[in-house]
Amino acid sequence: MSPIQAGPRLLLKRMREIMVERISAQARLDKLVGHIASNMVAEVCSIYLAKPGGVLELFATEGLNKSAVHKTRMKLGEGIIGDVAQHARPLNLSDAPAHPSFSYKPETGEDPYQSMLGVPILRGGSTLGVLAVQNRTHRHYGDEEVEALQTVAMVLAEMVVSGALVDLGEIDAGPKRDRPWRGQGVSFCEGIAMGRAVLHEPRVKVEKLIADDIGVERLRLDRAIEELREAIDAMLAAEDNVITGETRDVLEAYRMFAHDRGWLNKLRESVTTGLTAEAAVERVQNDTRARMARQTDPLLRDRLHDLDDLANRLLRHLTGKADTSAHETLPADTILFARSMGPAELLDYDRTKLRGLILEEGSPTSHVAIVARALDIPLIGRIEKVLDQIEPGDWVIADGDTAEIHLRPAHDVREAYRHKLALRAQRQATFAAMRLQPANTKDGEHVRLLMNAGLIADLPHLEETGAEGIGLFRTELQFMISSQMPRLVDLVDLYRAVLDGAAGKPVVFRTLDLGGDKVLPYARPLVEENPAMGWRAIRMTLDRPALLRYQIRALLAAAKGRDLDMMFPMVAEVAEFKLARTLVDRELERLARTGVVPPRKVRVGTMLEVPALAFQLPALLGTADFISIGSNDLMQFFFASDRGNPRLGGRYDLLSPPMLNFLKGIVEAARARGVPVTLCGEMAGRPLEAMALIGMGFRSLSMAPASVGPVKQMALTLDVGRLASFMAGLYDRSDHSLREHLKQFAIDEHIIV
Ligand code: PEP
Ligand code: MG
Repeated sequence: MSPIQAGPRLLLKRMREIMVERISAQARLDKLVGHIASNMVAEVCSIYLAKPGGVLELFATEGLNKSAVHKTRMKLGEGIIGDVAQHARPLNLSDAPAHPSFSYKPETGEDPYQSMLGVPILRGGSTLGVLAVQNRTHRHYGDEEVEALQTVAMVLAEMVVSGALVDLGEIDAGPKRDRPWRGQGVSFCEGIAMGRAVLHEPRVKVEKLIADDIGVERLRLDRAIEELREAIDAMLAAEDNVITGETRDVLEAYRMFAHDRGWLNKLRESVTTGLTAEAAVERVQNDTRARMARQTDPLLRDRLHDLDDLANRLLRHLTGKADTSAHETLPADTILFARSMGPAELLDYDRTKLRGLILEEGSPTSHVAIVARALDIPLIGRIEKVLDQIEPGDWVIADGDTAEIHLRPAHDVREAYRHKLALRAQRQATFAAMRLQPANTKDGEHVRLLMNAGLIADLPHLEETGAEGIGLFRTELQFMISSQMPRLVDLVDLYRAVLDGAAGKPVVFRTLDLGGDKVLPYARPLVEENPAMGWRAIRMTLDRPALLRYQIRALLAAAKGRDLDMMFPMVAEVAEFKLARTLVDRELERLARTGVVPPRKVRVGTMLEVPALAFQLPALLGTADFISIGSNDLMQFFFASDRGNPRLGGRYDLLSPPMLNFLKGIVEAARARGVPVTLCGEMAGRPLEAMALIGMGFRSLSMAPASVGPVKQMALTLDVGRLASFMAGLYDRSDHSLREHLKQFAIDEHIIV
């Protein structure tokens, strides 16, 4: 048995005693190195700590020249000590001078020592320094010894950050969570919020590192692992009919790691060295984080991140705090922080207290982003390592307009944002004051301003904005945020609640628009070369009519005795529309047969977002009850320009002669036939674009709730007659864009765009 096997527990105990002795910090350090050296049967033990600027300094030694303490320094990466710190992993060398990184420091007097074991002093993903032992002989330190020294280094890390060994101002103790920090991410949802930080998954602070009874700790660890496995199995089982998806991948990874022998052995070994179960988890987690920092392959980094998350979960099981913060008492202005989050998890929070969401990951099309938009809170994603920087309760400014966040902002930054928020509030107050005013232009034309929605959470915006109704209710969102296929009764309840919430204002339900970027968490994502032009929306639902009929049935049931407006997405030809319409007729016949009360009136319309459909207008206008133009998709198909490709972002302009001519043709034909036409793509919500649409002849626009005020303000300052005459001179121009001409018109005419 090597001497160290007998000793780590004893050593940890001794370390604890040294910590409470009434001696100076340096004396403590000196005692510690002495005890570690003798426990490890080493002639030398040294502690190097990182100073600001990436320099490592010898803080204490047993065996080397004491005069070198606070004098010997090396850069990160320099020498063996610098190498251990830079790569955050141990180096175990029986012939240290032969190692390529070896660099001789004469003042230390280390010439006679041949072997060396150096381990990083890690804490929360940061390297605080290096702990090293040396021997004269060509000694090979065994695995248990390496393990033991790492355990000692972890306890040392805690002692360092407690301030009991050094003045914290002197060293680089990892991210300082006490000073202002600014981060830049990607904005997934605009708006500005100021409030207090809440961690979605509370961080567990390990208070006790050294075990009183190893047997007890072993049992606690095993019990927590068992609980963790059961919790993961339950999460996977709760998604019974889930086939695959991102969430499932992560859960599967968790399950794999939770049964991974390597991981479990490491945890158990750490407990055996004398740590509490919590400290053992943290100790192994330190290694994971160090590996994560070194890893450049994004896929492997993701997996290490999953392993890190799993360790957090295990810690929460150990401390009996397995829940998220959703049901904790929240500050009145909560800014929520998470690595990533599912939509249902976000909806679990008290809406009245939620002001913003910050994620380390995420994407603009992710489902949680859709929910954040419905809740009208700023969401900034892809802020690397933000969780390392934040302390619960910290002041936070989340600026979704510039995609920046400020943690613990300085007084002047806070004041600047207070000012910004006040200005926004003033603008909101102006819009709120216009809420009940009809959107009539100066020359008396009424423009119907409707809003887009997709969740129950959107409904209060109807009242707040004064929108005349919901011009587009995207029904797929409910399917996307559930972990399983919603049941018929749930759909009926939801659609009924939407109609109730709309309180007599019209609502246009769009049937499922799935496929492309809209993927169900419980459906196998299809691998298609060109998903935007693939098997999506009406194409999918006509091939699988059961799903569409199921949805139509729910809509008819929810609207009984009331008006029902519904439309189909991505219709490319009239024949498709007719086919979809027969499904509605069949469901209506079914209702009649069973004697159930049908809706008072059912109007069936279509989205127009595939250019081909516009070349069948006479036939279409003879059969559709209304048309809604989806300019988001229409634009990408019209210009053959992917709507999600950033390289093509500004390449073509909607306000260009071809697009304006195309839209004008549709609106004129529809008006001539008396068929209502609305435009519900993003362009309807931008005041300058909305102005051009009104100039072309549109009198019904549907937009994000936040756009209703600005567009109404524009309409109230507009003379359509003058605009139409001005635009008459634009259609035949050959410019790339007509934007500047339209902007100039707005300036000359004092139109607020
Ligand atoms: C559109 O394409 O313009 C539209 C409104 O539909 P979505 O954005 O849901 O594809
Ligand atoms: Mg669309």
